[in-house]
Amino acid sequence: MSTKRPLLEIRDLDVSFQTQKDPLRIVHGLSLTLEQGETIGIVGESGSGKSVTSLAVMGLLPQPTGFISNGEILLDGRKISGLKEKEMRKLRGNEISMIFQEPMTSLNPVFTIGDQLSEPLKQHTKLNRKERKTKIIDILKTVGIPRPEQIIHEYPHQLSGGMRQRIMISLAMLGEPKLLIADEPTTALDVTIQAQILDLIRRINEKKNTSVMLITHDLGVVAEICDKVAVMYAGEIVEYTDVRTLFDKPLHPYTQGLIASMPDKNERKGELYSIPGNVPRPTELPQGCHFSTRCPLAMERCHQESPPIISSGGNHTVKCWLHDSAVKKEGEEAKEQLVEKEEEYNVRHAITS
Ligand code: SF4
Repeated sequence: MSTKRPLLEIRDLDVSFQTQKDPLRIVHGLSLTLEQGETIGIVGESGSGKSVTSLAVMGLLPQPTGFISNGEILLDGRKISGLKEKEMRKLRGNEISMIFQEPMTSLNPVFTIGDQLSEPLKQHTKLNRKERKTKIIDILKTVGIPRPEQIIHEYPHQLSGGMRQRIMISLAMLGEPKLLIADEPTTALDVTIQAQILDLIRRINEKKNTSVMLITHDLGVVAEICDKVAVMYAGEIVEYTDVRTLFDKPLHPYTQGLIASMPDKNERKGELYSIPGNVPRPTELPQGCHFSTRCPLAMERCHQESPPIISSGGNHTVKCWLHDSAVKKEGEEAKEQLVEKEEEYNVRHAITS
């Protein structure tokens, strides 16, 4: 990780949704930074709170129920959480853009590609018709669309899934944003097209120095293009570090389980491992550690007290009692049981390669 000033800072963020009774907290005390030109992966299963976090950054939490109940979000040093919708609209498309999993839901089926790309340029620039066309053709070439002069007259349904995602990326890049948020951008695509889209995002990041926040359930995607990674579980970041450290030395049992479930690991072992159980609903979070109901290493304390965020040196933090030095000293018996459990877990799932 570099030491440049952060482009994005999220400090102690809580996101809640108003229910018929009380507000329900979905994201709990989330903090992270993203520097200019850096790519961060936010990884976790469905229900971990990763997409809600990205919507909070975009100012697109579902209204009127979703809101930031604590903490703040800063872009380039400016606080953007709490901005009025009119001000957020100016930021979106200019300083921050987002691409979604399914481009068909974001592209309007009754307008041509050219019309859809022209609209934001009409709104945000003073370019005339001819200049807009030139810019659109240029950006379509940049994202690898063949025959752009023809494509601008076509409709979304005439294009393949991969082409539509390229159109979405060109839409997101029109305003030359500093931050691109990509929410599962390759999930709906087949493997070859996935690789091309990831490569495109990587090239945009390198060429334009655009910071990228990549939301994914797939650690393989994180390994492909990210500099650093925040692993989320049930609304919290449970492990946060650079990508290499995460794969070399995963500390949190959830991260270890995710790595053990990666297809290439399973191929080698000849079995398909998946973490038993499901992410608990926000209304059913267990007492203590959110992962305690699925954790093979859970101790008594885990079911009672939420673990603190512990630094493991450098830029590596983990939210797990196993790495708390005071807990490690809690008596020989507990220690031995822990070691036995760890060994058993390691043997069973062959976490490290
Ligand atoms: Fe498992 Fe306990 Fe660590 Fe939670 S705190 S991940 S339950 S060992």
